[in-house]
Amino acid sequence: MKLSLVVPCYNEAENVAAFQAAAIGAFQDCGYDFEIVFVDDGSKDATMAQLRQIFARQECPVKVVSFSRNFGKESGIYAGLQHASGEYICFIDADLQQRPEIVRDMVRILDESPEYDVVAAYQDRRGEGKVLSFFKKSFYGIINRLSNVSLKADASDFRTFRRSVAESILALGEYHRFSKGIFAWVGYNTCFIPYVACERVAGVSKWNFFKLFNYAIDGIVGYSTKPLRIATFLGGLTSVAAFLYLFVVLLQKLIAGIDIPGYATIIVLILFLGGMQLFCIGIIGEYVGRTFEQSKGRPVYIAREILSYENKDEE
Ligand code: UDP
Ligand code: MG
Repeated sequence: MKLSLVVPCYNEAENVAAFQAAAIGAFQDCGYDFEIVFVDDGSKDATMAQLRQIFARQECPVKVVSFSRNFGKESGIYAGLQHASGEYICFIDADLQQRPEIVRDMVRILDESPEYDVVAAYQDRRGEGKVLSFFKKSFYGIINRLSNVSLKADASDFRTFRRSVAESILALGEYHRFSKGIFAWVGYNTCFIPYVACERVAGVSKWNFFKLFNYAIDGIVGYSTKPLRIATFLGGLTSVAAFLYLFVVLLQKLIAGIDIPGYATIIVLILFLGGMQLFCIGIIGEYVGRTFEQSKGRPVYIAREILSYENKDEE
């Protein structure tokens, strides 16, 4: 039995060695083999130099995939998955916010419960602000209502799963990858366990509100076409409203003889309709853009260099 730890790293120079030490500490006497697949996601600091040293030392079986630029965490875990050879695979962050000891519990659940194929950790207590948690809650509310897949709120990418699940995920060739949605889409029985995210060992989080917002839009647009219907719906609604208003104006003119001074009304209507049209075009644009990106058929990432313990001797 072998476990592959897939670790995306972006500017994590201070963390990768500590991560490896923690992983070795957690798994050395656990009775199964493990390998670490580091993916250097185009880091601008010394992450790759650190990974090279780690690879040279081979304190445990290590693979390193190095990207030609920053492609994002989703591309990183996809690349790591392609190079992982274990029967069990785990997605885990490099910053030790997600402890390798929890992975042992996840593996135990997979060993003891053949009915489960995925063990996913969700964040139990959050130290984040009210505003962010409000937006996160709204995001899960919206996406679960709009799309055909159902996402568990607060579930992270911190997961351990069987080979069969990995094969299913690799078979999805989409360019815009959204792991939470992908896991929900491929299905399989998932066991959710709570975990408490630790403080980052070093460095800063790569997320900010703007990135999270884009991530949320990616998730919604990637897993539902219902927003497209908003345009149809709004269009129908305004047409009906326009007809009703026309009727009212005609009656006022013909029966009561009132002339309607319309300057303000016209401005408001132009602004309102213009705004709504742009909004709908924006929604359509999101989908057209994605179709365009996908139709180019570009790879999800480009690897500059791949180091693997399996062919280390050939070098
Ligand atoms: N990460 C990555 N590429 C990116 C951004 C992040 O590979 O463009 C990695 C990062 O190195 C870390 C993991 O994704 O291992 C989670 O990132 P981070 O800790 O910044 O997110 P948070 O824990 O704050 O959600
Ligand atoms: Mg983190």
